[in-house]
Amino acid sequence: MDAAFLRKAFVLIAKGVIEKEQLLQSDSTRYPYSKTFQHGMNMFLAASYQACNAQYSDESHFLAQFITKPIADWFSGWDQDVIEKLNLTEEPFYGYGAFAYQRNGNVYTPGSECYEFLETQDSDIMEGTDERVLYEKMIVLNQEAYCKVRRFIIEHPIISFEDRRKMSLELSDNPAAKDAFRFAYEEIKEDCYRCPYCGWTMTKGKYGYNCHSSHCTDTTPILTDEMRLNVSDRVLYRLKKGIMRYFSAPGKLELEIVSFCEKKKIQCVLWPQMDKYDVEIRFPNGEIWEIDAKAYHNPIALRTKIQNDNGFPEGEYTRGYFVVPSEYTSNQKNYTAIVDRALTNQKNVKCVTLKTLKTEITRKERSCLEK
Ligand SMILES: [Zn+2]
Repeated sequence: MDAAFLRKAFVLIAKGVIEKEQLLQSDSTRYPYSKTFQHGMNMFLAASYQACNAQYSDESHFLAQFITKPIADWFSGWDQDVIEKLNLTEEPFYGYGAFAYQRNGNVYTPGSECYEFLETQDSDIMEGTDERVLYEKMIVLNQEAYCKVRRFIIEHPIISFEDRRKMSLELSDNPAAKDAFRFAYEEIKEDCYRCPYCGWTMTKGKYGYNCHSSHCTDTTPILTDEMRLNVSDRVLYRLKKGIMRYFSAPGKLELEIVSFCEKKKIQCVLWPQMDKYDVEIRFPNGEIWEIDAKAYHNPIALRTKIQNDNGFPEGEYTRGYFVVPSEYTSNQKNYTAIVDRALTNQKNVKCVTLKTLKTEITRKERSCLEK
């Protein structure tokens, strides 16, 4: 057993947890058996057996024992010598939080850490997911249609039958854009609440309410009658879960940066060259900043993602920024420093919070005005 063996085990486990969730979505009456999950689990157990003679019986035991715990804790019984010899603490999987939380009994829902970890791994894994399919449908659109659909998706996690018809009509002269738009949504099948944190749906599970991100439920919002969504007497649609996660969370950042610049009357463009950058800011002295908004809770995931993408895209900009939501750094003060370690070759690029970016924009604007 070596570190590569464990690396593979964690990819399979993460992929398997998500596969189990998909199985459950398609048939909630059957236990979701995922071969991928069992393969990963068996690899990890074999490694544990080698490292500390640990023995575990079955999947339910394994889930209860590990899946809701941070990855570092999975190795708590391991010999310190083995951990050091394999240099485990430097492995890409080691710094992640729990891959899933318990929904009820033997049913676990993958959390953002699991998705983020997987996204930094082999990109084949994302093949066929809703977010990837939408991305492929969007990237062939022209700039105008691209911006129109993307903005609509970000601003409307839930839409009515009437909203859907109206937007479809608006896009009727562009079948590819209409197709992308309609693909992004699915009909809501059960009564639920509108999540007061992100605007998506909160549905009731045995252990309370679930949204697309455990972050929403961690804040335990108070759900009022006004937030109720009754689907028995009207048709409503919501973004598919993966699309909500990948488009909407960073999208909110993008729109906020743009509205901040607009208020200051600083020239800015949303999604210039479609997917290359998220926001381009042009100051009165002609200086250009390019922004890439990222909504990864885990800084190691973001850093790995940046490394896989070979850093910030090249271009004619003075400064480049990876921007993350300010609240993501509140319990991880070294968040941006961790990410910046991937940017040592790009001196004009750094990772900042939205709050810091706003401060820097204001400072730059002031210096332009003084000249
Ligand atoms: Zn939410």
